[in-house]
Amino acid sequence: MQKSIIIIGAGIAGLSAGCYGQMNGYRTQVFEMHDKPGGLCTAWTRKGYTIDSCIHWLVGSSPADNFYRIWEELGAVQGRRMVDHDEFMRIEGANGKVFIVYTDVDHLEQHMKELAPADKKVVEEFIEGIRACTRVDLPIEKHLSYMVP
Ligand SMILES: Cc1cc2nc3c(=O)[nH]c(=O)nc-3n(C[C@H](O)[C@H](O)[C@H](O)COP(=O)(O)OP(=O)(O)OC[C@H]3O[C@@H](n4cnc5c(N)ncnc54)[C@H](O)[C@@H]3O)c2cc1C
Repeated sequence: MQKSIIIIGAGIAGLSAGCYGQMNGYRTQVFEMHDKPGGLCTAWTRKGYTIDSCIHWLVGSSPADNFYRIWEELGAVQGRRMVDHDEFMRIEGANGKVFIVYTDVDHLEQHMKELAPADKKVVEEFIEGIRACTRVDLPIEKHLSYMVP
């Protein structure tokens, strides 16, 4: 008899568990208390506006990233165009100064140094931290607890 898995919650985790269960020969049933799947990763329309509560960035959106393989396995990226924005976010201060979090690290470094020349050293440390993160490709085949070197 085919083994069966019951999954509570139809968020990304539950839906993924359901897909992987089926890929591995299990019968899966996902139980969701809301009337829609998606969990926190959802959007809705109100008075002609779409309120997109998530996702602002997708880990593994680049085909060069290990995580991309997971999205491919789940059928989430095929035929979709990834949009890489120049700006991740912008924060406007009371004085009208605008801090823009550019997605391009070099551009971000230049912008931060222009905004706060006195913080040059701290900015460089921060930027080096970001660059170090970009060199990390999580070994997805390992258990989560072994992923971080
Ligand atoms: C505003 C916002 C922005 C975000 N931006 C990003 C982003 O840019 N990039 C990114 O990677 N992540 C982002 N996240 C995080 C990401 O959305 C979540 O980590 C992810 O959706 C969580 O998925 P999950 O399946 O683990 O949990 P959830 O989405 O919480 O799903 C759990 C599901 O279980 C259901 N449930 C709970 N209890 C029961 C029960 N007893 N019986 C039946 N059903 C039950 C819930 O209704 C829900 O549908 C953002 C989250 C928010 C809120």
